[in-house]
Amino acid sequence: MIITQSKPTLNQSDALCISDVIESGQLAQGPIVKAFEAALAQTVGVQYGVATSSGTAALHLALLALEIGEGDEVIFPSYVCTALLNAVNYVRAIPVLSDSGNDFNISVDDIKRRITINTKAIIVPHMFGRPADLGALKELEIPLIEDCAQSIGATYYNQPVGSFGDIAIFSFYATKMITTGEGGMLVTKNKEIARRALDLRDYDGKPDYIVRFNYKMTEIQASIGLQQLGKLSGFITRRRDIANTYRQEFIGLGVELPPLDDYRQSAWYRFVIRVRSDLEALIDEFKKNKVICDQPVFMPLHRLLKYAPAHFPQVETDFKHALSIPIYPSLDEQGICQVCNIVQKTILKQ
Ligand SMILES: *Cc1c(COP(=O)(O)O)cnc(C)c1O
Repeated sequence: MIITQSKPTLNQSDALCISDVIESGQLAQGPIVKAFEAALAQTVGVQYGVATSSGTAALHLALLALEIGEGDEVIFPSYVCTALLNAVNYVRAIPVLSDSGNDFNISVDDIKRRITINTKAIIVPHMFGRPADLGALKELEIPLIEDCAQSIGATYYNQPVGSFGDIAIFSFYATKMITTGEGGMLVTKNKEIARRALDLRDYDGKPDYIVRFNYKMTEIQASIGLQQLGKLSGFITRRRDIANTYRQEFIGLGVELPPLDDYRQSAWYRFVIRVRSDLEALIDEFKKNKVICDQPVFMPLHRLLKYAPAHFPQVETDFKHALSIPIYPSLDEQGICQVCNIVQKTILKQ
């Protein structure tokens, strides 16, 4: 059996709720989307939720709702997928990339060096499920967009991520913590921000004309989302158990394990280690043994944009040494054993 990087956890209950929606005859955005928005906002501990067709769409609406546009600067990490860069470019703002700290999250010290009078927002992804340094980020007093695409259910001093920023966004893409196939959500405590995002999400039935979007979620997606949200805490418990097993099994291999802090509880979206040996050879060797380990970020943004690597020393290190080990709720004991055996055998051999 091939052990993939991740796998959605779906079962009969997801199938049944889809067939209920089909029988109801209402497929487009309606009461189930509203219920999903309310449930997720409640999970995060904020008032408003705006469901979208993707995490990228939610990020785009977040920037528009903060009235960010041409010439404004938005800071976010280089070590992240291109979704953030795209959203910033959609609104013609200027992307300002930041280096990471030692825990794969954005470095607040580095942010401080990049702030100018034009800085209008910081987008902070909680990388691989681990909360970023929210205390220090709040002290910067710059509008904060939490990117919780990888971290729904994670907590910082016992408070859910997504409740700290002016806005938070989520993704329900197939590989994320919970899935609706494709999908996303914007959440906020701010009534005016929620109103703007809601207004821009769809174009129909408006008495005035401004450029709006079609970023709606369907009832089918929302019904799966509600099912998945109900299972979230079980998913996280399972992920944490697997992470704990890996920690024990990987001791003595000379690899750097993910950091642990009592006050920052990770959702364990990814289990990312740093290895000393050549990544490519390792990944190939794992693949031959039917375990798909991979680089957790395909290509840092500063490399895609051809910025000088010297300005992103930690990201360069992570790009060359970080390795993501399979972790997902349905990975069973046999699978975990297979992963541990191959990791031990392969890394010790290098
Ligand atoms: C997946 C992801 C996104 C984008 O979400 P989509 O639903 O794929 O558009 C944004 N930020 C981070 C950190 C992600 O992991």
